Amino acid sequence: MDFHIDKAKILPKENAQQFLEGLKKFGVLIAPKKKEEKFYFDIIEDTSEVEFNYTRTILPPKKFLVPYRRKRFSYNVDTLDFESRFTPVDQVIFGIHSCDLHGISILDSIYLEENPDPRYLEVRKRTILIGLSCRPDEFCFCLSTGTAFPDGTNWDLFLTDIGNDYFVTIGSPKGDEIVLSLKELFREITKENLTLYKQSTSQKKLSFDLEKLPDLGRISQVIELEYDSEVWEEEAKRCLGCGTCTNVCPTCFCYTAVDVPDLDGKKVSRIEFTTSCQYPYYSLVAGGHYFKPKRSDRFKHRYYHKFVGYPYQIEKLGCVGCGRCSAECPAKISIVETIKKLRGVENEEKSGEVINETSAS
Ligand code: SF4
Ligand code: SF4
Repeated sequence: MDFHIDKAKILPKENAQQFLEGLKKFGVLIAPKKKEEKFYFDIIEDTSEVEFNYTRTILPPKKFLVPYRRKRFSYNVDTLDFESRFTPVDQVIFGIHSCDLHGISILDSIYLEENPDPRYLEVRKRTILIGLSCRPDEFCFCLSTGTAFPDGTNWDLFLTDIGNDYFVTIGSPKGDEIVLSLKELFREITKENLTLYKQSTSQKKLSFDLEKLPDLGRISQVIELEYDSEVWEEEAKRCLGCGTCTNVCPTCFCYTAVDVPDLDGKKVSRIEFTTSCQYPYYSLVAGGHYFKPKRSDRFKHRYYHKFVGYPYQIEKLGCVGCGRCSAECPAKISIVETIKKLRGVENEEKSGEVINETSAS
């Protein structure tokens, strides 16, 4: 369903808690909560714990669509009887920032386009996505990746903070149904609300430090041309190979699986869990050959996949500019700084300039 302004409503902030309570009738409510100075998506019982103002969660909401660890099936080694328990539930994920909505859109392309994953499809059909506007911090660069605003393709409702109210845009028939069922909480939009909405979106753009944003023009070509750059080696010297960058990324989707036998060896469970292209064993294949034996190869692979592989496969960058990999990296490696170094733009003052592709590469 396309976005139409006549589909928008106003949710006064004083009704926000009732709105969250009302969402519970559509499924298990999941939303951001605060723990010490960090935020995380969690199942919500007490709606007063929901954080409306946060920069980013440690892990993206992806963890409720494709769990980090899950049992795929089990089988009896004698009879080869298979047992597959898969019990998706209806769920409402509230408070998703625009970058993470785009991240889910990328996962949708990966999991549903070429060889659709029936489990992912079932989970997605049962998941309502409700977005929430945000302001960038020093790690965000979603304005460069074109993901600073929702594109209206995969969410149900989106709440934009306009001061005393939320400007609620409706993105799907399910979103319509939610608003209709809680209609006493909403007001019709006025001309003033519309003005505030427009101001809010332009203020978000103005909140970015343009000098610090990376230039992602023709980034696929730059990464390919810089395949042999010394930058990879230099940056990888600091990399610990811990895999934090991929584990926190909303678009990374690599899994591995092991068969775990029970104690009497009769029943075996196939356990799938997230892995990382930054781990040495990731590229280990039968026969003991490592495709990416050097840390710098693995380090480069992540950039290559995000900025060359994804565009080739799904015609979108594999990075939504959420800044998690830089914010959480224990070695303080910044994806933005690596890109600037590859472009030959290390000087902060020059980073906002348009780069000549030939000289940058
Ligand atoms: S989080 Fe940082 S140190 Fe860990 S693998 Fe990624 S780039 Fe390397
Ligand atoms: S690569 Fe880093 S900035 Fe880009 S989407 Fe993944 S975690 Fe976010």
